[in-house]
Amino acid sequence: MSGKLIDNMSQLQFENLKLKKTVKSLLWRIEDNQRIDRHFQGFEFKLLNSNRLTDLLQLLLLEARGYFDLADVGLILVDRDFSIRELLRSLGLGSYQNRLQLRNSDDFAFSLYSGKYRVVLGEQDALATSRLFPNLKSLGSAALLPLMRNQTLIGSLHFASPLPNRFTPDKASDFMNHLASIAAVCLDNCLAHEHLQRHSRMDMLTQVSNRLNFEEEYAKELERSERSDDPLSCMFVDVDHFKKINDTHGHQAGDRCLKEVAAAIRQELRKTDILARYGGEEFVVILHRCEHSEALVIAERVRAAVASLAINVDGQRKVQPTVSVGLASWQPRGKRSPDLAQLGQRLLSCADAAMYTAKRDGRNRVEFKPFVPAPAGAAASLV
Ligand code: GH3
Ligand code: MG
Ligand code: MG
Repeated sequence: MSGKLIDNMSQLQFENLKLKKTVKSLLWRIEDNQRIDRHFQGFEFKLLNSNRLTDLLQLLLLEARGYFDLADVGLILVDRDFSIRELLRSLGLGSYQNRLQLRNSDDFAFSLYSGKYRVVLGEQDALATSRLFPNLKSLGSAALLPLMRNQTLIGSLHFASPLPNRFTPDKASDFMNHLASIAAVCLDNCLAHEHLQRHSRMDMLTQVSNRLNFEEEYAKELERSERSDDPLSCMFVDVDHFKKINDTHGHQAGDRCLKEVAAAIRQELRKTDILARYGGEEFVVILHRCEHSEALVIAERVRAAVASLAINVDGQRKVQPTVSVGLASWQPRGKRSPDLAQLGQRLLSCADAAMYTAKRDGRNRVEFKPFVPAPAGAAASLV
């Protein structure tokens, strides 16, 4: 064999080996991408399966850390009309140890994304780190995911890694972009759903429960009390001479008055108590685990709180509303009631009757009426 032929063959063998290596590395990269894809898809499925805001936030702000092996996670939501803040408060959700922040405009995002809302991978300076991840002392690298819906920024999701080479600008960000779209859709849907739920259960004027929500919650509360043998008190609060307030100062002043009366009542209650607008200028309160002497103290506090209001109606004149309060209490005493719904209705009627006595006796006062759980002649049917 000539030397030239041998040279050509070893050149060919060398090229062959190089090719094999390239194919192997390509295959390895494909497999690696498939593995990452499956991992991201797994998380996206979890996001899509979270129907409640609580579940979604738990997943994004707590579980994502372990799932993606991160140092920390942060989420900023744009809350232009403070409705998200109100929603979180009503659902009893906090900031998830500073991981969830609300901003009333999207200004914060302009510098993060330099005006182009695409995923950003890389280092962050100390100031940005402290804003995005208030719990972190140092950061290796970060991924910033803009959350867009209908060309509007609704928030921004941030992943932190202790490793400087984990999120680098040269890395492909397709998986992250996809995750950002899914997270944005899920958050937007969940927020809309929760808002709708809340509005359908709330009286829009006074921001307390509406009658429908009251009926449901009251039924649950009666069952809870019976199961645990806890006392339960029921309070009717009716604004005195409200028609006169409307007639003298106008309907709008009347509306403002109702709002402030509701807020004053709420102020005197515990978080677990139910406050609802029962009708026009009438509110009902269910005091959970509260026997009559304690309920009397609360009722008196409610009466005094309303009587101390001075509501500005037209810049000069003030309205000073008062309320009449009727109270009734139920102590289950270890017996199951054959008809809990009926018992509940009778407890409400008892409190309502007490409220009418308070009206008759001069208004701006509290009246208590003893409640007899079983109607006359029905005692034998109690189990
Ligand atoms: P009393 O002390 O006996 O309870 O007298 P009252 O005037 O408060 O009771 P009445 O039932 O005679 O009048 C209640 C008024 O409340 C009549 C109704 O027009 C008014 N009202 C009901 N709902 C609303 C509301 O949403 N806004 C306003 N401004 N007024 C309302
Ligand atoms: Mg009234
Ligand atoms: Mg009334």
